[in-house]
Amino acid sequence: MALKEYFSGPTAAKIMKLSHTNEIYEDLIKNISSLKTSEAAIIKVSLIPQEYNNRKFMKHGDELYIPRINSTRESLERKLTPVQERAIVFDSKSPNPVSSYSFKPFLGTDKRTRKVSLVECVEGAKLFSYSSKSPSTAINVKPYDNSKRVEMDGAEIIVGVPSRTKKQERYKFKISSVPVIDSNYKWGMVNNISTDHQCGSKRFNIRYTYSEEKETSKVFNFCAHDIAGYLKIMDHYWNKDKNLVPLQMNQFAIPTQETANFYNKLSKNCLIQISEDKKPRKLNRSEKEILLWGLVHKLGHDKTFFAKEKLKDYNWEGEE
Ligand SMILES: [Zn+2]
Repeated sequence: MALKEYFSGPTAAKIMKLSHTNEIYEDLIKNISSLKTSEAAIIKVSLIPQEYNNRKFMKHGDELYIPRINSTRESLERKLTPVQERAIVFDSKSPNPVSSYSFKPFLGTDKRTRKVSLVECVEGAKLFSYSSKSPSTAINVKPYDNSKRVEMDGAEIIVGVPSRTKKQERYKFKISSVPVIDSNYKWGMVNNISTDHQCGSKRFNIRYTYSEEKETSKVFNFCAHDIAGYLKIMDHYWNKDKNLVPLQMNQFAIPTQETANFYNKLSKNCLIQISEDKKPRKLNRSEKEILLWGLVHKLGHDKTFFAKEKLKDYNWEGEE
């Protein structure tokens, strides 16, 4: 399969040519989950709340808050790993469509809120699977983890992540505050993770007016490249000396194969047509995000974002 199709799925025209096309108005999660490879669904209800458009929803839509911790003492009393925190938050019902989950550091100078969307988590996992297939696409990792400060501040790690388009060079960037040492500092530091990476999907988030820009500077959005880079770091430390700390303290939700299948259907078998659309079109980013959260709320955290299989073995081509 061509690289472009692997990542973005077939065109709307191609989806319209699938043998069975059904219009769906309700029970979207169930109806999408049960689609076969040869079937297409056209969603006929609007998913994004009326006050937003695609871009505004990504930026201002409801987020789920991972509980904010304010001190090292509090983090040591709590001692919940990120996946345990996510399980609680993902399983709490949210009345409105959700655009991301977020956490916030209490240490250091960079206290920007960290926002993570499920679409980027799934895309990051998919990019990681793709990169594991051949040495030419492998993600490279160069850790700077020898200094004395690493126990307190985390490691700084340079990663090189392949792009999802053929012509683009790989992205090389630094991931900071990566917990790699098993000590009490990891419980607080885990919220400080950040990167110096920029790409189209992030710039999309910062093209704003001045007042919006000021607000945006308080938020750090992780993209699929950041997440794929971190997944490779987990792998690297495990392979090197069976160090599980980066995995244990991972802030990014990793999809199960079931969630990967659902996401595939959003790209390969689903179109949407609401009042403003002359013809059925592919789902936009916010619509995919809303449906992924719909799946989480229907099946719960563990079935959707508590991965037990190895990502490199996932099937991203669609169910048989
Ligand atoms: Zn990126």
